[in-house]
Amino acid sequence: MKTNKAIEKSEENILHTYNRFQIVLDKGEGVYLCDVDGKKYLDFAAGIAVCALGYSNEEYKQALKDQVDKLMHVSNLYYNDPMTEAGEKVLKASGMSKVFFTNSGTEAIEGALKAAKRYAYNKAGHAGFEVIAMNHSFHGRSVGALSVTGTAHYREPFEPLMGGVKFADYNDLESVKAQVTDKTCAIIMETVQGEGGIYPADPEFLKGVRQLCDEKDIVLILDEIQCGMGRTGNYFAWQEYGVKPDIMTCAKALGNGVPVGAFVLNEKLAANSLEPGDHGTTYGGNPFVCAAVSKVFDIFEKDKIVEHVRELSPYLEQKLDELVDKHDCLETRRGKGFMQGLVVTGRPVGEIVNKAISNGLLVISAGSDVLRLVPPLVIEKEHIDEMIQKLEQSL
Ligand SMILES: *Cc1c(COP(=O)(O)O)cnc(C)c1O
Repeated sequence: MKTNKAIEKSEENILHTYNRFQIVLDKGEGVYLCDVDGKKYLDFAAGIAVCALGYSNEEYKQALKDQVDKLMHVSNLYYNDPMTEAGEKVLKASGMSKVFFTNSGTEAIEGALKAAKRYAYNKAGHAGFEVIAMNHSFHGRSVGALSVTGTAHYREPFEPLMGGVKFADYNDLESVKAQVTDKTCAIIMETVQGEGGIYPADPEFLKGVRQLCDEKDIVLILDEIQCGMGRTGNYFAWQEYGVKPDIMTCAKALGNGVPVGAFVLNEKLAANSLEPGDHGTTYGGNPFVCAAVSKVFDIFEKDKIVEHVRELSPYLEQKLDELVDKHDCLETRRGKGFMQGLVVTGRPVGEIVNKAISNGLLVISAGSDVLRLVPPLVIEKEHIDEMIQKLEQSL
């Protein structure tokens, strides 16, 4: 068993901020991962909604290799073509106006908050604005992103964080309205809450928040880091609601495993927020990561990934619903497309996740009682069947 040794060695060196599952992953092919002892896993976690194209996609790998041979990094003091191309593709998919590439989702949130604050500052001629965020939200672990993350026990040890943040209840328009003051500059939320337990926004709620933002000239920031990039059957989850954010954040599947995120602005924010000198990053949007982003969009188009999610989702939902009907420990299913949650009752969700892992299936949890399924977007029917069979074995 190489696994035990490898885990022991890791714990000697790596700061213990995660209670990791007791496996050491080594390589991947398609929608399967393999650990250091050669055990194979069907992957319905995808590195937490990152590896949309699965593993070892030849075209993707070749594009990265080519870019490594050509040029890995230049400073943002200079232009580079891969960034321009990747930017063009993000804007085409989103219908937004301007993009800023970051190194992670968290940093995309930081940039979005700064852009919203800068917009209000430009308009009012002074600072001191507030942000409304949602209970049970997750936006990241840096000080700014943590300030708008709606789980108190993540925040408390690190307070005081960014000031001026108020929390409202997701899918409760009145509770959002109750937090609005004349200092409110932004409302930030996930279009589908991920870490909090897979809660899609109610259409009336999202439309109501958009209308509220329009009336008061409040910036609407939609966090699409987990639910974006085709996962819900649209490039971005908000696209099926008939609303559009002022700022969108994106990351996770954007680079399919290369560390990259983005905040994306509509025309109004692009013209009236961050100015030269206001924001920057050393790595963000370098040629290497942008070659990845660019190729991800090419493969999405060529292989019709978004359409594939839309076509296969009803089958996934049907199979999961059948499972819920059959098993008392599953209360209900929530989700959209390939972002699904099963609410577990009467036993710890971690127990099922661990059983699934020993049965060769990677799934994760969300919130306190939700089993989360965020597979690579390239899964086929047979993988859904295999997942159901392995999950059933684990219940
Ligand atoms: C993962 C996630 C983040 C943070 O992204 P990182 O790349 O881990 O910094 C922010 N928002 C949402 C909705 C996420 O799922």
